[in-house]
Amino acid sequence: MQLHLTNTFTSELPADKILENSRRQVHNAVFSYVNPKKTSAPKVIHTSKEMANQLGISLKETKSDFFKNVFTGNKIYPNTTPFAMCYGGHQFGNWAGQLGDGRAINLFEIEHQNKNWKVQLKGAGETPYSRTADGLAVLRSSIREYLCAEAMYHLGVPTTRSLSLSLSGDNVLRDILYNGNPEYEKGAIVSRISPSFLRFGNFEIFAARNDVKNLKILTDYTIKHHFAHLGKPSKEVYLNFFKEVSKQTLEMIIHWQRVGFVHGVMNTDNMSILGLTIDYGPYGWLEGFDFGWTPNTTDRQNKRYRYGNQPNMGLWNLFQLANALYPLIEEIPPLENVLADYKTDFEKQSLAMMKSKLGFFTENKNDLGIIQNLEDTLQLVETDMTIFFRNLSNFSDQNTGLKVIEDAFYNFENISDEVKKLWNSWLKIYAKRLQEEKLSHQQRKEKMNAVNPKYVLRNYMAQLAIDAADKGNYDLIDEFYILLKKPYEEQPENEKWFAKRPEWARHKVGCSMLSCSS
Ligand code: AMP
Ligand code: MG
Repeated sequence: MQLHLTNTFTSELPADKILENSRRQVHNAVFSYVNPKKTSAPKVIHTSKEMANQLGISLKETKSDFFKNVFTGNKIYPNTTPFAMCYGGHQFGNWAGQLGDGRAINLFEIEHQNKNWKVQLKGAGETPYSRTADGLAVLRSSIREYLCAEAMYHLGVPTTRSLSLSLSGDNVLRDILYNGNPEYEKGAIVSRISPSFLRFGNFEIFAARNDVKNLKILTDYTIKHHFAHLGKPSKEVYLNFFKEVSKQTLEMIIHWQRVGFVHGVMNTDNMSILGLTIDYGPYGWLEGFDFGWTPNTTDRQNKRYRYGNQPNMGLWNLFQLANALYPLIEEIPPLENVLADYKTDFEKQSLAMMKSKLGFFTENKNDLGIIQNLEDTLQLVETDMTIFFRNLSNFSDQNTGLKVIEDAFYNFENISDEVKKLWNSWLKIYAKRLQEEKLSHQQRKEKMNAVNPKYVLRNYMAQLAIDAADKGNYDLIDEFYILLKKPYEEQPENEKWFAKRPEWARHKVGCSMLSCSS
């Protein structure tokens, strides 16, 4: 396996001068050199062929011992120097100080087909940033990250990618619900890939420490390599950089809202500077459409990161980034303008996104009202978001009525007449509005199906794959991996995954309740 490597990150940014792998505050550095921990019995259980191909790694090579050893941290690729990054973050609304890659270790950078990719292992052992934890990851959370990142990519949602999923052969102690019941679980390592793993928190940590020199070095590097079109760094360019991050963050969140993805932990240390979905922890997919839903039990009280609050939280996080970049810009009003634009852009883009989901391609001043009416109606009784929007494309006129969306209701038999009446009245408005559209039903249906996925990684599906993998059967991981490569296509042989969450999964840990334990 011959990789085409480069090292912009480690050669252009300041490294921690201390080489000892001890837990500590790291100053004046963007990263610390640290090697992954050797594992006792590494075993690759899945690889993303698409991602390997984009890195110039052949299918045959992914099956080699060399691949296994490199991507589980057991062998250092020649002439590379693995490292962990230093970052801080606002967690659940409060400044948390230094966090950093506590269990992620960056291996190297690959240049292939004019693209630059950073390669990182998650769960590869302790780093100076491990704080009180062990630097490891368990199989369940690794399967969730591995599958979901690739699924998001195929849904067209900006995201980091997955290359491989491996067992370490070591056991890891975890208290899943933080209720005093720790148990040993199988350890795992995901190799994940991104043009950059920089987060808002990488910038915040320097600002918090009044280290403007390194803040500038890091920002200049980021602009040079990821926002080169903005030109040579200046106050104006720093502001434009912030504008772009704001735009890309919003774009990502609009996609989340479109597909019903709830990240679960939108802390600023989990916000990519490139607007990519990063750090798949206690995330979840909406089943019943509900603005108030969050899968994260750690956030059960305040529901800060609930579905309907994600756009606001994106803005809140950008506010923190604005504060961090302020020393480079030194003017408040232009930063405030960017944040104000986020709000108006959100209104516009959210409306456009919802219109596309409903098949409205012409202008109509009533659309916002129709959409708000729908969102209220969707929350009257438990209604499956994915099934509802997908099946809505079969609606052509009022004669097709409630029947078309019947499958989306979790308890159709017991829906009250009053709720049925409200649904029928919305469908009547919808039918009338559709008459103004110029496309044929078939054309509209195709367009709607291109934004309303048929298949998503429902929470219980990930759990089924986890339960089987715990027993040594990895078939479902592969089945879902293949299924989710074509989320917008009809796959008649896979119709069983286009179904509501089964009742057994309603309150099961891992399906509807997830904690940060991973
Ligand atoms: P998260 O909420 O998972 O994004 O994690 C917040 C911080 O905790 C990050 O700095 C992680 O690197 C760190 N962290 C999470 N789990 C572990 C672990 N098992 N060992 C070391 N650090 C961890
Ligand atoms: Mg994180």
